[in-house]
Amino acid sequence: MAQKIEKKGGKILKNCLVTKIVVSHKKVVSLEIENQGKIQKMDVDCLISSMPLKNLINCIENENIPSEIVRIANGLPYREFMSVAMLVQKINLKNTTKIKTLGNVIPDSWLYIQEPEVKMGRMQIFNNWSPYIFKKKEDMKDKVLLSLEYFCQEDDAFWDMSEEEFTQFAICDAQKINLLEKKDVLWAKQIKIKKAYPAYFGTYHEMDHLVKFLDGYENLYCVGRNGQHRYNNMDHSMLTGLLAAQHIMANRTDKKEIWDVNTEKEYHEKK
Ligand SMILES: Cc1cc2nc3c(=O)[nH]c(=O)nc-3n(C[C@H](O)[C@H](O)[C@H](O)COP(=O)(O)OP(=O)(O)OC[C@H]3O[C@@H](n4cnc5c(N)ncnc54)[C@H](O)[C@@H]3O)c2cc1C
Repeated sequence: MAQKIEKKGGKILKNCLVTKIVVSHKKVVSLEIENQGKIQKMDVDCLISSMPLKNLINCIENENIPSEIVRIANGLPYREFMSVAMLVQKINLKNTTKIKTLGNVIPDSWLYIQEPEVKMGRMQIFNNWSPYIFKKKEDMKDKVLLSLEYFCQEDDAFWDMSEEEFTQFAICDAQKINLLEKKDVLWAKQIKIKKAYPAYFGTYHEMDHLVKFLDGYENLYCVGRNGQHRYNNMDHSMLTGLLAAQHIMANRTDKKEIWDVNTEKEYHEKK
């Protein structure tokens, strides 16, 4: 898609931070962007935003945003995600099913951990997503690529753990539930994701006011997961972007259909 955009003369700026959104007469007119330490101004015809709603409101300039709106935006909660991916010689769980798997590991892709004695929230077995995930082809036969996953907050002590501390903590948890032995861990890498989960408490129940306020900017389209503060999966997120593009092409300034993605009562990846 990026190549198509560039082929048609579009310009994509990567690794830039939008720091200000300038509005006038109920329209977004320009952006201020931090590009490699330099501040750059950019005029815009319209803005499709996937940045977190909280940040979006705090970036808007030139307007007296009602304090109620700022309060709602700043009260939107998020959960952070921390995981340690590891290559292990073996895990202690036996595949007792008839399902054939690579290296005969248990066939699950992910498992939620319920044991109260550990903080681990979920584990994933990447072997079961794709064999091509292994760096070395020979490893796919007899090794397991795992991820031990934790849900936390940016301001808690957990988030501030060093990579070494966190890796040892996760291995210790894994040992407690007899998932693996420390000696079998061959390689490990920590991964941290801020605002991984838009959460549904805090001021979330007042989101309607925020949506109404943002919809007042006729050329602003909020899309994606944190861009809509909704637990959108990849398919939903992409659909909101496609709908935004269709709205712009049709000069539509009502945004209801875009906000309505993933509001159906039932959503099943597989029933
Ligand atoms: C741990 C985890 C597991 C997931 N698993 C699945 C799954 O199995 N299946 C599935 O379908 N979906 C999954 N999802 C959801 C999926 O990743 C999201 O729905 C999708 O990535 C959202 O796309 P997006 O474009 O809205 O946001 P993102 O992919 O988060 O992109 C938003 C971008 O905006 C950038 N940005 C933010 N603020 C600014 C700013 N001020 N200026 C410039 N850029 C900015 C960010 O850096 C980021 O690159 C998962 C998400 C997480 C966190």
